Amino acid sequence: MEDMADPNVSTGTRMPQADMDPLTGLGNRYRFIVDLERLLDAPGSHPGDGALILIDIDESRKTNDTYGYRFGDRVIRVVAELVAGMLPAGATLYRTGGDAFAVLWPGASKDQTHHFSVTLLNESRNPRRVAGVACTATVSIGAAFYPEDGDTAEALFRCADVTLYRVKRRGKNNVSFYAADDRDQEVSHIDLESELRASVEAGFKDFEIYYQPTVDAVSGICNGAEALLRWTSPKNIRISPADVIMHLELIGCVEQVGDWVLEQAIGQCAAWRASGLSDFSIHVNLSMLQLRDHVLEERLVYMLKNAGLPPAALVLEVTESAIMNDLSNSIAILNDIRRHGVRIALDDFGSGYSSINYLRKLPIDQIKIDRSFVADIANTFNKSLANTIKDLAHSIQLSVCDEGIEDRAQFDQIEPSQGDIIQGYLFGKPMPVDIFQTFLRDNRRNVVKRSQAV
Ligand code: C2E
Ligand code: MG
Ligand code: MG
Repeated sequence: MEDMADPNVSTGTRMPQADMDPLTGLGNRYRFIVDLERLLDAPGSHPGDGALILIDIDESRKTNDTYGYRFGDRVIRVVAELVAGMLPAGATLYRTGGDAFAVLWPGASKDQTHHFSVTLLNESRNPRRVAGVACTATVSIGAAFYPEDGDTAEALFRCADVTLYRVKRRGKNNVSFYAADDRDQEVSHIDLESELRASVEAGFKDFEIYYQPTVDAVSGICNGAEALLRWTSPKNIRISPADVIMHLELIGCVEQVGDWVLEQAIGQCAAWRASGLSDFSIHVNLSMLQLRDHVLEERLVYMLKNAGLPPAALVLEVTESAIMNDLSNSIAILNDIRRHGVRIALDDFGSGYSSINYLRKLPIDQIKIDRSFVADIANTFNKSLANTIKDLAHSIQLSVCDEGIEDRAQFDQIEPSQGDIIQGYLFGKPMPVDIFQTFLRDNRRNVVKRSQAV
């Protein structure tokens, strides 16, 4: 499908200006809420059965960041036209937010909704030309059914919303229907994101940094730590650290929180070094969005100077997928940072593209071999593959960190090399700073040596 010439997607109905989304000509969020409430909440209404389908464009923030908002708007129009073109009789499409759409479909069965959703998912995977650029704008879909999932407008919307965000968390470009016990396990992204934002605005209240030890592969001495972000929800929302990062990216706060983590971790490492651990390093993870930030270098240099930490004591961890997302830009930014002596580690190596070809081209100092890879290291093939990767890394002057070593059997399979490090529950889980201090004292006294029982 080509980019639309006409700014308005035909809906076949005339609509008052105030109810209309000017970009697509569809009903806007206000119109959607009025229609949903009229259908479900009006006194004496007998809506029968039907579906509320929420549709979200995947990676639209990335599209905006890469190509700009004007291009992003054109993508939204293209998707609007795609959905409008497939809309079943009786269903209405609305644009309810930036990259968000809703379909209200009275009378729809689950089978019909499933068929519509799968067709849309498949169609959305086809590349299209937008403003002369070939692009793929996939979507994620969450649906809820009335009256069984919710018989008021608000209840039904929350069910569909929770379901959509579950799809997004689990990898996007998929469809899911609300399941009755979802409400207990999952949380509406609206609540979650407003809580997260409140924590950021209250001076990073509810955020904490845990430290996980890294140990020297040969001596077993703890010579560094990885800073890992923790967030405690005031309302007891259960959410993993990786999901916290994803939502911080979605609400545009990841740079702010990322700076806070860097500042805390750099200061803590300087304090440990001053207390006698003169060779101590600190690892800090960078999100994909921080990897686009051309002034990160400047702020980093300031933070290091301010804390009196030598740049080589800081290791920034970036994942392959974050780098590949915008290869040339990422390389430029990493090069700028590395010029000051800060080291770069490629995190989760072996979990994604893992192109050995790129290893030589990337401005990195270390690879961290992913836990999934190490988990089955007792298997002969995996062990020789891991060793081949290590030999290759060493041959181009990269050090290696084995991540996720959980037991003695895995530890025994690792061939130690000078300069390499190991990380995993066997040595220590991520812990709050005071517990980490005790750990450090004990570790120096009671090193996990290969010759010693753990
Ligand atoms: P990561 O950077 O790969 O961090 C390692 C993850 O593996 C941590 O999970 C850690 O708790 C876990 N882990 C370490 N050793 C073992 C082990 O032996 N067994 C098992 N099963 N797991 C182990 P965590 O803390 O949940 O963090 C998950 C991810 O969230 C991190 O993966 C990182 O990508 C991201 N993350 C955490 N903190 C930050 C942050 O401050 N900034 C950014 N951008 N990302 C962060
Ligand atoms: Mg990491
Ligand atoms: Mg990792």
